[in-house]
Amino acid sequence: EAIIHFSGVSLCYGNQKALSDVSLDIAPGQVIALIGPNGAGKSTFVEIIMGLKKPAQGQVRVFGIDILKHPEKHLRRIGVQLQETKVFTKLTGRDYLEFFSRLYRHTLPVEDLIRQQDLQEFVDKPLGQVSGGQKQRIILALAIINDPDLIILDEPTIGLDPLARREFWSFIRKLQSSGKTLLFTTHYMDEVQALASQVIVLSRGKVVANGTPEQIIRLH
Ligand code: ADP
Ligand code: ADP
Repeated sequence: EAIIHFSGVSLCYGNQKALSDVSLDIAPGQVIALIGPNGAGKSTFVEIIMGLKKPAQGQVRVFGIDILKHPEKHLRRIGVQLQETKVFTKLTGRDYLEFFSRLYRHTLPVEDLIRQQDLQEFVDKPLGQVSGGQKQRIILALAIINDPDLIILDEPTIGLDPLARREFWSFIRKLQSSGKTLLFTTHYMDEVQALASQVIVLSRGKVVANGTPEQIIRLH
């Protein structure tokens, strides 16, 4: 069964159509790149999955749950990335991990996560004093602290240097091989090609392409 199912989903802000009759299925274990120009509807798509926006029309199921009827049950199985620019610079990575671990009922033990993600070297430094790549690794650890089945990442490699981007790619591949489903937005086509098993292209609120990276890149 699909992990995400949209059927005839439309959402407007006033007169502005943000999503228009979107239908698609995402199978478990996929790495999905959600791409499209600014204003295409990517954020709105993600916000619907997170239960933050309700479509005027259509059906949405996540993990088989009708989230328009049951808007909260699925949330504990989702991990979401914080925006890097919005962290408190005086808090350490460990502070954040401890805080998030108390938010959820079921979490990976903080020490295990630090070891597993190899964060020991910088986890006790204030986030204002670590490199961009290190900060990103803390943020990614936070996104998986609840051991989610579905992980949503918004432009995860923006502003990262080439080494940090490579580290991110291996983080994604490890999660995929452990059976997680990942959905990420990006503007980098090399990243789409390197990571994605499925690409969804949105434009003006419509799905204009949905397939493997090979299929999508052939179209362009
Ligand atoms: P993307 O994430 O691809 O940039 P969005 O989902 O943010 O696209 O936006 C889709 C469309 O909806 C755009 O035209 C955007 O301007 C509009 N939009 C998004 N949020 C709002 C809002 N809160 N009020 C009015 N229009 C909005
Ligand atoms: P992104 O490209 O990351 O989606 P946007 O610039 O589209 O970022 O949106 C940033 C925020 O502004 C979002 O919360 C969105 O809902 C809101 N927003 C976007 N477009 C409009 C709009 N035309 N009117 C009001 N709010 C908007």
